[in-house]
Amino acid sequence: MTIDPVKLDRLAEVAVRTGVNLAQGQELVITAPIEALPLVRRIVEHAYKAGASLVTPIFSDGEITKARYEHGGDASFDKAPAWLFEGMGAAFKSGAARMAITGDDPMLLAEQDPAKVARVGKATSIAAKPAMNPIVGFEVNWNIVAYPTAGWAAQVFPDLPVEEAQAKLMDAIYDASRIGGDDPVRNWADHTTELKKRVKWLNEQKFDALQYTGPGTDLRLGLAEGHIWKGGASPALNGIICQPNIPTEEVFTCPHAYKVDGRVSATKPLAHQGSVIENIAVRFEAGKIVEATASKGQDVLRALLATDDGASRIGEVALVPHSSPISQSGVLFYNTLFDENASCHIALGQCYADTIAGGSEFSPEELQQKGGNQSLIHVDWMMGSDAVDIDGITLTGDVVPVMRGGEWAF
Ligand code: ZN
Ligand code: ZN
Repeated sequence: MTIDPVKLDRLAEVAVRTGVNLAQGQELVITAPIEALPLVRRIVEHAYKAGASLVTPIFSDGEITKARYEHGGDASFDKAPAWLFEGMGAAFKSGAARMAITGDDPMLLAEQDPAKVARVGKATSIAAKPAMNPIVGFEVNWNIVAYPTAGWAAQVFPDLPVEEAQAKLMDAIYDASRIGGDDPVRNWADHTTELKKRVKWLNEQKFDALQYTGPGTDLRLGLAEGHIWKGGASPALNGIICQPNIPTEEVFTCPHAYKVDGRVSATKPLAHQGSVIENIAVRFEAGKIVEATASKGQDVLRALLATDDGASRIGEVALVPHSSPISQSGVLFYNTLFDENASCHIALGQCYADTIAGGSEFSPEELQQKGGNQSLIHVDWMMGSDAVDIDGITLTGDVVPVMRGGEWAF
């Protein structure tokens, strides 16, 4: 049993046509693990068929990443290829679209020193700003899809021979990505319509805060002033309607970086920078995490929170019903693209400027005044389940049920 080439090809086509929605004559920059070459080749083919003027892939490799930790001198851990990110930024400024392939082994760096991993993460985030800002600000159309690498598949299906695990993970990616059936483009249009209904209702409520109640969770989460709920396909500032995440099941908005109080317990492990963090529990005071524990990977979690001031505050809140197909599949993916779309979640760090009205035009200071968080990191973690209830609190203090037992209550 090997990865189904037909499924791989359809995933590539959906990523190009529905995901990034590449425009005639547009350039495309792809980043990918080298193991994802079979998918990248399919994507490049579909991109040129869709009218791409130039497709430029940039590859990484897990063994090469590890070699730095094993043989690199101490000074290596504060270095990042700024020149590369500046080049990518220049490509986006001149109109290129962006595609990222995810699928690295979630445990790639689990044996390495968390302090070194954190240093590399920070150096990379700083250097990557020219490439990341056009994405975070939604200036260009972009998309992330996944490829089932051997290391990732072995983590998800540890009892299977690796080729079989990869084939099975491909099936799971395919099902989660809503591309089975005769007309995936139509499926995605219907799915977007459904998400937009939730977005519309939430925007009409203009909630001041959300109140979460569940096992280990009692949280009042204030929302940013002028926050806007988003979800599904939406237009980038270049006017192209794209679907940034495949799959996507979330509706999301901007929390208030200084108005979050209470306790939250994670409901799924978090795979972050080559390690898995389990049973995260945190306490917020005035938006800041003041206590953080994890049963596994606690030092990785604490190094992450210490990245900068905004790393211990949140920049995204997202709602996902427990009945989402990814959640119902019962597969724990150890990959945020999938796990965040199986569960309500919050993200540590940077907010999306376009989830605040007028935010794309704001300076960082103006964004902060509305409650938008600023940080080098943006890390989603899962805190939803069928045992979590969520209420919306209006400006006048009325309580409106939003989710009951992990399902929409409206
Ligand atoms: Zn999210
Ligand atoms: Zn996020």
